[in-house]
Amino acid sequence: MMPQTTPTRRVCRDCDGFPVVHIIFGTSPDGYRRTLPVVCPGCQGTGIRSTSPVSPAEVSV
Ligand SMILES: [Zn+2]
Repeated sequence: MMPQTTPTRRVCRDCDGFPVVHIIFGTSPDGYRRTLPVVCPGCQGTGIRSTSPVSPAEVSV
């Protein structure tokens, strides 16, 4: 019984929780800002760093 109930949120350290960043790369002649959505390659746009799935029964020394 462990009293630790700390929710471990594995926020992606590459984007710090902002997986999709819109990069403004110019302004169209109409006045619209051209934005390019860039998905964080570290978390694939999820914002959470998904580490390799570790099975609890992986310990086999
Ligand atoms: Zn990320």
